[in-house]
Amino acid sequence: MAIPASLCRQEPVSDSGRSPPGFKAENAENEAETLLQRGDLLALSNRLKEALETYAAALRLGPVRPGRLGTLVEALLLSYRAHEGIAPVRVRGDGQGAELCCPGCGGFLGEPVTASCGHSYCRRCLRRELLSRCRFCSQSLGRLEEEGGQKTGNRTSVVLNHLTEKWFPVQSHRAKELNRLDELLWKGQFEEARRITLEHTKSDPEDLMLRVYRAELNAGHQEFMAAIRDLNVVLSRLPDWPEGYFRKAKVLQDAGFVDDSLQLFLQCLALDEDFAPAKLAVEKILCDLLSPVPENVKEGLKEPSWSALQRTQSKPFVLGTGVEQPCCLQPSSNQNSELPKGSKYAVRTCLDKAERICELNLVEKLAKEEGLKRVSSEPLLSSQEKGALLKQKPTVSDQDLTMCDDRTKHTKQGGTMEGDAALVLLCQTVPKDLIDTSDFECSLCIRLLFEPVTIPCGHTFCKKCLERCLDHAPQCPLCKESLTEYLASRKYNVTQLLEELIRKYLPDELSERRKVYEEEIAELSNLTKNVPVFVCTMAYPTVPCPLHVFEPRYRLMVRRSIETGTKQFGMCISDPQKNFADYGCMLQIRNIHFLYDGRSIVDTIGGKRFRVLQRLMKDGYYTADIEYLEDIKVKDEEKLHKLQELHDVVYSQACSWFQNLRNRFRSQILHHFGSMPEKEENIQVTPDGPAWCWWLLAVLPVDCRYQLSVLSMISLQERLIKLQQILTYFSRNQSK
Ligand SMILES: [Zn+2]
Ligand SMILES: [Zn+2]
Ligand SMILES: [Zn+2]
Ligand SMILES: [Zn+2]
Repeated sequence: MAIPASLCRQEPVSDSGRSPPGFKAENAENEAETLLQRGDLLALSNRLKEALETYAAALRLGPVRPGRLGTLVEALLLSYRAHEGIAPVRVRGDGQGAELCCPGCGGFLGEPVTASCGHSYCRRCLRRELLSRCRFCSQSLGRLEEEGGQKTGNRTSVVLNHLTEKWFPVQSHRAKELNRLDELLWKGQFEEARRITLEHTKSDPEDLMLRVYRAELNAGHQEFMAAIRDLNVVLSRLPDWPEGYFRKAKVLQDAGFVDDSLQLFLQCLALDEDFAPAKLAVEKILCDLLSPVPENVKEGLKEPSWSALQRTQSKPFVLGTGVEQPCCLQPSSNQNSELPKGSKYAVRTCLDKAERICELNLVEKLAKEEGLKRVSSEPLLSSQEKGALLKQKPTVSDQDLTMCDDRTKHTKQGGTMEGDAALVLLCQTVPKDLIDTSDFECSLCIRLLFEPVTIPCGHTFCKKCLERCLDHAPQCPLCKESLTEYLASRKYNVTQLLEELIRKYLPDELSERRKVYEEEIAELSNLTKNVPVFVCTMAYPTVPCPLHVFEPRYRLMVRRSIETGTKQFGMCISDPQKNFADYGCMLQIRNIHFLYDGRSIVDTIGGKRFRVLQRLMKDGYYTADIEYLEDIKVKDEEKLHKLQELHDVVYSQACSWFQNLRNRFRSQILHHFGSMPEKEENIQVTPDGPAWCWWLLAVLPVDCRYQLSVLSMISLQERLIKLQQILTYFSRNQSK
């Protein structure tokens, strides 16, 4: 990436001594921003060493908010990943497996919540601010906010929750208990949390999530050794679980080992780059590392140390080229147990540089012999303890690997352990004898859920059923909760897990349901029988016709014509006796613009003309059996010659009528209908004749019954004569 010269150029040093104080402060701010921008550009070009120096220089001018170092974090992460060969872990496949397993924590899907993307997570994973994006599709996950008993955000999915409780009552109960524990910890009610933890530890000492909570509790009481021990076990079982690294990093950070925690935060981010709290932590640490220490600490710093640094910096080292050629690599003796000993880290190198910059300002000597740098506070572990911790291999004891004690007869059936050890560790196979079609029924159509969509209140309906409800009112048909926001987002994503469960456990019912659906679609796609009719205005072949669709029945009609793929419907004017006229014109949908409340502006263009054979109704809108109209072709040479002559005369007449219109009218017509179409080479080439005739008919200010009669003519000659009569009438008036 090229860096604009203007940003790389060294700024002239201002003579700050002569400037007024206010000016000086502002100047420093501007200078800092320029440096930060330069740092970003250097980081993006992978010139990390220079970037770090530039950031440090900026931070010497004043503090910046940690988020400002986002670009640096991304660059470091990229470098770290490339060097370690870590690809971000995306959960395999496009959909959620049929197992009731949370893609966030890999645990049992207790109290499932379906996010707007259609993927379902356990309540715990959405409560904490740990997951910001869906691990399947990277879409942003809604936050669960539970303030003062008021629950906003997505609620527990009613259907899925029923299934988890019915199929796995013990796990479900347990998940709820752990959820409560999580909530207590979240709210800081540690005493109660400790009591519950102890209780569960007795009954189920091997539960991984329990270990996670126990670690949190222990860390809260500064029992870091115990916390790390638990998290090591968790990580040995779930080596691809970003949250595990995040939690361990947190504990290490709390214990004062910022350096090691940084490594683990990066590991977490390498597995899930959207892990927002880890990103924040890294930014904060970098900010601290690069910032100068307060004035009082700085005392005693000697000038020579700065010049010494200058010398080191002037050595030809190419940190920017980083990945292929990491320079100044040091065998890392201080890596913790998760990371292979002696491996070389590009990031380490960069950070060593950063630290070297900071070294200047650090009063305490970094504890090199320990291989650990005490950056913030005093470590809260003795070096002996710490050594023991970090040396501890993530040995997976037999005990650790025992599956969670299954206490129901059903859980014994499945639980494949081999293979995908990462995230499906705790998954179970669904007990077949407990599968009941009625659990998968849509309460609107009383049929098997088809393309099930779960809305924020937790209720699930077939997508089509839900959309029809929303045509009428933006609220849940069951609990009446407002869906205004949901409707505006227009994201009716199918609940993947439910669809998967239906596909897997009710294949026959599903194929039957699909057959019914396909028959319906085929019926709706028929373009001669039961064709939907919009009763509104005159439409003509080739002439654009924009429509504002707001009535529920027409919302449904337009949506169906999109779903079936025909993208067509008939347009007729109303008729007092017959509901709608005998003749009409098909409209082709070119584009739809949806408004926030479900109304839409539909851009259509006229297609074939038709005659109504029979009038019918479907779901509130009119339909008709129709036959299409086509002009009778003139074959006789002489007659055709005469027709061509007539055509040319009427065309010139039309042109002069249009030219003689008052400017105001002319520009209105041009705005609504566009300019008049050109004459065509062969006047009989299309079944509807020359396009300009339809354009003219549309813009002439005549009664729509008159227009309708011209529309229904299947002789071009007759149509031209009719148009000529109208033009003659209007031209006479024009000349008056
Ligand atoms: Zn989860
Ligand atoms: Zn998703
Ligand atoms: Zn339904
Ligand atoms: Zn509801």
